[in-house]
Amino acid sequence: MKQALKAVLIFIISAFLLPLCVYYINSAINKKQAKENPAAEETISVYFHKENAVREVPLEEYLKGVVCAEVPASFERDAIKAQAVAARSYALYRAQSTNEAHPSAAVCTDFNHCKAYKSPEEARIGWGKDADMYENKISSCVEETKGEVIKYDGEVALAVFHSQSSGKTENVSDVWGGNLPYLVSVESVGDEKAPGFYSSKEISFEEFKSVIENENKNAKINSFSDISTITHSEGGRVKSVIIGGAHFSGTKIRTLFSLRSTSFTIKENNSNILFEVAGYGHGVGMSQYGANEMAKNGYNYKEILKHYYSGTQIDYV
Ligand SMILES: [Zn+2]
Repeated sequence: MKQALKAVLIFIISAFLLPLCVYYINSAINKKQAKENPAAEETISVYFHKENAVREVPLEEYLKGVVCAEVPASFERDAIKAQAVAARSYALYRAQSTNEAHPSAAVCTDFNHCKAYKSPEEARIGWGKDADMYENKISSCVEETKGEVIKYDGEVALAVFHSQSSGKTENVSDVWGGNLPYLVSVESVGDEKAPGFYSSKEISFEEFKSVIENENKNAKINSFSDISTITHSEGGRVKSVIIGGAHFSGTKIRTLFSLRSTSFTIKENNSNILFEVAGYGHGVGMSQYGANEMAKNGYNYKEILKHYYSGTQIDYV
């Protein structure tokens, strides 16, 4: 009789109680993961500009394509992870409002407008024989930061980034106007080690005169001395310059002459105009090469992000 009771008890435990316990434990784990990681299965609408098509894709897969296109896969792991969190924050910030250029998509794949993007196939071709290694590296860096974003005052930050600063980053107010307390000028060390950090562009005086006078009919240039009064931003880049009596922003000059950044000087060189340029990109937010230098010096991705985005926290979505 005792044995029969024992058998019934074992049957009840194994048939009902054990599965029930497993169910509740799994459920608790899933709830914890969902709380820690609510963006796990999030998707985002992307306008693929080369195909002229909008598709809803898993956010984390889109981010792998952005990270591949934005930084070399040879970068330090913490620099890549910082890039992943910055790109996730940027995408989710953009997804909060309608974008006039592509109203049916939160972001696009055109680096001139949103952020650069490479498909897995494009990335593999670029990596050649190292494709498996680099694909695993990028994937694991993105996955290890899954759901993490940069927040300021509890809100997802507009985490813009650029390739190379020139000693300091820029205040957003000096580049695009507006005032975001986390996009202010901070030191960026080691960017000058980046490939192509120093660049130059030389054009004839006639070409310079033609471009400037076409852009602003009030500008009248007869000689090099008509270039005057260059003002600089807190980050040390050209904020504005008066040419032939007309005012031009540093950003406008950069665009007109396809310079790599607004950290430039203008010289007269054998009757030509010579621009000497340092760094690459708009200079606001995180410097990608500066981030890589920080990672080489032992900083982790959260420390890197908090350095470049002042007063922010790294949190889940
Ligand atoms: Zn876009």
